[in-house]
Amino acid sequence: MKWMFVLVLALSPLYAAAAPWGAVANYTEPKAGQTSAKRPGERYLIAQILDGRPIRAKLTLAKDSTKYQSYEKIISQGYNRWFQETAQQIRAAGREKEFADILPLLEKGVPVRFVGEVDEADIEFLIVPFKEVGEYCRGAAGCYIHSDQFPLPQIVLPQDNIFWRVVSLGEIKTANIGLHEIGHSLGLSDQYERARSLNSHPLYSTEETYKNSVMYNATSLSCDDADGIINLIDLTRGFSRGGELGWRSLCKKSDVVYVRSAPLTKGPYVITALDQGKKWRLEAFDKGSKKAEYVLAVNLYSKSMPLEDISETVFRRDSAGRPLSAKSSEGEEVYYSYVYDRKVRLAVRNGEVTNATVWQPVYKKNKRNEKLFSVYFGEGGGLSVIGYTRPYSSKGKKGTMIYIGGLDKREKSADVSLEFDAKGNIIKSEIVWPSSDQARTTTDSAIGQTTPATSATRASSPAGMESKIRRSLRHSALVKEREKKIEDLVEWYLRQSY
Ligand SMILES: [Zn+2]
Repeated sequence: MKWMFVLVLALSPLYAAAAPWGAVANYTEPKAGQTSAKRPGERYLIAQILDGRPIRAKLTLAKDSTKYQSYEKIISQGYNRWFQETAQQIRAAGREKEFADILPLLEKGVPVRFVGEVDEADIEFLIVPFKEVGEYCRGAAGCYIHSDQFPLPQIVLPQDNIFWRVVSLGEIKTANIGLHEIGHSLGLSDQYERARSLNSHPLYSTEETYKNSVMYNATSLSCDDADGIINLIDLTRGFSRGGELGWRSLCKKSDVVYVRSAPLTKGPYVITALDQGKKWRLEAFDKGSKKAEYVLAVNLYSKSMPLEDISETVFRRDSAGRPLSAKSSEGEEVYYSYVYDRKVRLAVRNGEVTNATVWQPVYKKNKRNEKLFSVYFGEGGGLSVIGYTRPYSSKGKKGTMIYIGGLDKREKSADVSLEFDAKGNIIKSEIVWPSSDQARTTTDSAIGQTTPATSATRASSPAGMESKIRRSLRHSALVKEREKKIEDLVEWYLRQSY
């Protein structure tokens, strides 16, 4: 999706060329129901183009539209532009020799055949009135929809609308939005900040922030889009362009070098949460090749909340000086992964995760609104999380802290939720205190076990008095325990600097 804030963007100047591109996050993963992919990209259309098969498209128009041919043309041109303008970028850079193996393929373009039925199609295009696009596309002015539940990809585009075309100085038109969505259908991810960290592949994507690619909001292909198509082709074919030395981005001002379709600076570790944080996948890459993959479960019986500040000895750093692997003062192996603005730290002992920490911004509209810090850890046989959000650009203590115990076992309402002002004073709190029911269950079963035969001898005492007292003592112990926990959490929160 894109173009939500297109009017603002249309007025800002385009930036100098750089290389932000990304394959979509699931480009290298098998389709649902398959045990392994034959090769990367098989749920995207570039794979079949490389096999020499045309794109079979079903075009569905809104009832009152008769411009069937003009939309056919927009779609055909969209696919062709991705290939032919990539070839133009190669020629413009004077690097025809280096890409001689794919230039003929790119210049030939992409054949698109229109079919009458959806079950003959590889993709369906829906052209709907401008006002209705938002309903299909969650408020965006166009979208690409594809999931394992709905295996036929769909692209929803607005009918050309003279009013918007004029207001946006020609930027909002079906062809421009179509070019971006067609990029998705080939296997490219979004490059605008709110979305790119969500749908870009952690390894096959760059980190640059310059913005003139079609997968950001540009209306014609630039060097970075061309980088993307070349990398998708190489990745899909398993081709290692430039061998171990790789190849330099087509963008003149960029110093990005790709080896096996991955920027040299990426990795080497990619850490992904699985099973809502109960398991974590740790992948190790070397120059674009996966060397190892582990799925590690969280040790659900950790002794305490990870509230101490742990020091570590760093073994390895990336070119920006960020830690990649380390040993903690607690003796854990520590791994770091960086994907756009999301950072993950995984602490591992004896093949089990002791805790996993995630730093990431939260986007509101297209802006970084808050920063979110969270630590996942095991507690009493379940998964717990502590975390907080703070305004993105503030240095004070304003924010909201939460603690959720048994995250994997029940509804995710917080046990403790505290709101702080800039000075660190608590201004609002929601705390789920242990219920007396919980206390009764614990106490009654304890009595049952230790004093099974005494009820008769104590029959003269007021009914249930003793067990009532025990119950309330037990209850207040649970409350005290929770109070202590909250104290520790507040202290921890106030110490944090992220
Ligand atoms: Zn998009």
